[in-house]
Amino acid sequence: MVLADSQPDIIRSIETLGTACAIYEYVEEIADYVLIGCNPEYESHLGKSTGDATGSPTSMLFPDRIYDQLYDALEECRRHQHAVENIVSIRQGDHERLWRYFILQIAVPAGHRPRIMHASVDVTGKQLLEDNLHLDMERFKKVVQFAHDAIITIDSSENIVIFNQAASRIFGYSSEEMIGRPLSELMPVEIRRKHSDNIAAFANAPDTSRHMHSRAQVLAQRKDGSEFSASITISKSRIGRDPEMTAIVRESFDETGLIEDLLIASRHDALTGLYNRRRFGELLDAEISRCRRFDRGFSLLMLDIDDFKKINDTYGHIVGDHLLQTFSRRLAGTLREMDVACRWGGEEFVALLPETSIEGAFVVAEKIRAETETARLKHDGIELGFTVSIGLAHFPAGDGSIDSAIDTVDQRLYSAKKSGKNRIVAVHDRPEHG
Ligand code: GH3
Ligand code: MG
Ligand code: MG
Repeated sequence: MVLADSQPDIIRSIETLGTACAIYEYVEEIADYVLIGCNPEYESHLGKSTGDATGSPTSMLFPDRIYDQLYDALEECRRHQHAVENIVSIRQGDHERLWRYFILQIAVPAGHRPRIMHASVDVTGKQLLEDNLHLDMERFKKVVQFAHDAIITIDSSENIVIFNQAASRIFGYSSEEMIGRPLSELMPVEIRRKHSDNIAAFANAPDTSRHMHSRAQVLAQRKDGSEFSASITISKSRIGRDPEMTAIVRESFDETGLIEDLLIASRHDALTGLYNRRRFGELLDAEISRCRRFDRGFSLLMLDIDDFKKINDTYGHIVGDHLLQTFSRRLAGTLREMDVACRWGGEEFVALLPETSIEGAFVVAEKIRAETETARLKHDGIELGFTVSIGLAHFPAGDGSIDSAIDTVDQRLYSAKKSGKNRIVAVHDRPEHG
């Protein structure tokens, strides 16, 4: 509080202040506050010299808009005896300036007119800074909120302080649910301890960001308990005195699954699920070498649906496809686990029967032929029968090559077709090469 009796004393005391400062005295007769002294900073607000301004009531010193606000504040301070703080914008030349002002009552001797000090600080720069800071904050919030990747920030106690929309989408929790919760709730129980140790190690490490390579994925857990593999980038920053850590989390492709799917697709026929020709070639090649090494033999069957073109032409391709699938299931179901069935192309199939004599292979072939002959194919109200012709050969001790082996069964199949179809040919009926 300032105690000032005479005007020169007042001016002397406020001139030393670095901010604009003035003293008003309440004059009951005119119900207004009269300026009794101010410092040069305050003069520049008024646009008048102290000499001109002293003795004037506020109504004459300020434009209406400012006067109204200032008068109310002075009244509030005087009547309720408490300090008032406010912000006012004042146009000075071409510039709008923001002033934060304080109004407080000065202790005066009894019987003296009430005196009030009005001090103001130019806060234009500060306000601009605050506005920019606010803008930056808004920008930051939007970038974080709408980022495609999950952004999760934790404080030094590993509690979540930022949990953006993508995090909600990926983990199934709303940000309200997760803010303040421990990060560990986003991972399976068994890895929580280890993860916490990793965080501590990173917190104490000199590097400020670390990318967890895709091969070192972390396992994460959704709200519904399901787990998924996530690739994350983490960075740390010091907010105030406390370190914070931010993770950018991306659901990672299950690459193992993808590779497996691609591998399956590259080895199998899409319609029937049997091995394709390329894969069969590899397996047959391996079997030929194995037989050569261990002096063992194998049998090979080549099977071709009889008059398939006619079935296609009569019932349509859909029925034809259905027939191929049904026949493939029958073939695979008749063979042993160690045997290999393949769709060679169109309505032709081959089967490799390791360590099987020609007699054994014949039994299998006959089973397939007979079952095919008796079975009825039912599809969409259509019922039909069909038959299959089979060429069969045995290769002792891995004789020959893939090409010659295939050529042999192909020729026998051809014989089966020529001799009336729906049959098995397992012998030479003409000179064979290979
Ligand atoms: P054969 O008794 O001498 O074997 O005569 P076929 O009619 O069975 O043999 P052909 O080679 O004349 O005809 C085979 C037909 O198989 C021709 C082709 O359009 C059909 N085809 C090939 N692949 C597919 C397929 O994936 N789906 C269907 N529906 N038909 C196919
Ligand atoms: Mg055919
Ligand atoms: Mg054919």
